Amino acid sequence: MRARRKEMLSALERFVRAESPTDAKPAVDRFGRMVAAEWRKRGLKIQVMRQTHAGDHLRIEWPARNPRDGQVLVLGHLDTVYPLGTLRQMPYRVARGRAFGPGIFDMKGGLVIALFAADALKRAGWMPLRRVVFLWNSDEETGSKSSRALIEREARGSTAVLVLEPASGLDGRVKTERKGVGTAELIVTGRAAHAGINPQDGINAARELALQIERISRLSDAKRGTTVSATVIEGGTRDNVIPASARAIFDLRARKPADMRALERRLRALRPILRGAKIEIRGGFSRPPLERRNSAALFEHAKKLAQTMGLSLGEAATGGGSDGSLTAALGVPTLDGLGAVGEGAHSATENVLIDALPDRAALVAALLATL
Ligand SMILES: [Zn+2]
Repeated sequence: MRARRKEMLSALERFVRAESPTDAKPAVDRFGRMVAAEWRKRGLKIQVMRQTHAGDHLRIEWPARNPRDGQVLVLGHLDTVYPLGTLRQMPYRVARGRAFGPGIFDMKGGLVIALFAADALKRAGWMPLRRVVFLWNSDEETGSKSSRALIEREARGSTAVLVLEPASGLDGRVKTERKGVGTAELIVTGRAAHAGINPQDGINAARELALQIERISRLSDAKRGTTVSATVIEGGTRDNVIPASARAIFDLRARKPADMRALERRLRALRPILRGAKIEIRGGFSRPPLERRNSAALFEHAKKLAQTMGLSLGEAATGGGSDGSLTAALGVPTLDGLGAVGEGAHSATENVLIDALPDRAALVAALLATL
C-alpha cells in the first residue's frame, strides 16, 4: 500500500475539493457520484439509494463466490459539517506530512482508505469469503435520520461491521467503546409581571431554569461516565419583565443502557422548585452506546493483523456517537475508528497524517480478507 501513497493522496484531494455538507443535497449528490465513479472503475456494483430531501446514499456490493455466509458491512458517510464555501477559508493543503481540508479526517480519508483497500485486494485476485457491502450514507453528521433503517437492515444480515470513522489520537487507536447520546429539553413556564411595580406577582421562569440547571447538572456521574450538560438556554422577553417562559437543552451521554434509562427516569421525576412554576421535560437518549463487549473480539483480531504488518494498534473509548453504535446495539460485532489518523475533526485545522493512509488501508484490506 505504501507504494500507492501518492495515488491515495490525490484521490483524497479530489474528494475534499468536492464539498458535501449534510444539508446541501445537490453537493452531497455530486460528491456521491464522484465516489461512485471510483468504485465503478474497480468493477464493483453500485446502488444509488435516492432520497427526496437528504443526499442519496450509496451501497456498493462486492459479491462472494459462495454467498451463503452472510456479509461484512463497511460503514462510512459522504457528508461533512462544513457549509458550502468553507474551502475558500480552509483550502486543501499539504504541510509537514499532513493534509488539511474540510471533512478530510471525518471522514473522506476513511472513504479513500476503503477504496484502496478493496482495490489492493482486487489486484491481488482475492475474492471475499463473504459478501462485502460498503454503505456510504449522506446524513451521519445530523443523526442518520434517513439512513438509520437502511444501516440497521444491512447490519442484521452481517457477521461484522467495520466503521471508517476517524481514529483516536495520532497513534491511530480504534474505537471499541462509544457512549450513548441523547438530548433533553426542559421547558419552564412561570408568570409575567412588571419587574418594578409588582415583581412579587410574577413567577420567574429564568430563575426556575437556573435552579433546575444546577440540580440537573448534578445528575452527571464522572465515575460511571454519565454526563448531563446544559448546551442551549433561552428565556425572557424585555429587560423590565419577569419572564414567563424559559427553556434549556441538555446533551446527555452514558456508557450503559441501564445508566441511560436511570438518567431518563430521574429527569422525568424532576419537580418545580419555585412555588407556582411549571416544568416539562422532553426528549431522551436517541443513540445507543457502543459497548466494548460488541467490539472486543474484532479488536483482538485487528490487533493481531496489525502486528503481522509491523504495526501496533491500540483502542480507545470516546463520548461521541456514530453509526457504529446503531449496529453494535443490534448485537453485531462492530469495530469503529478504522478510518484516517489525524486531528481536529469539525474544526478549522482538520487534518490527516499522510503516512498513515497506506497503513490503514492495509489494515482494512487485511480485515476484509480474513473476516
Ligand atoms: Zn464522521
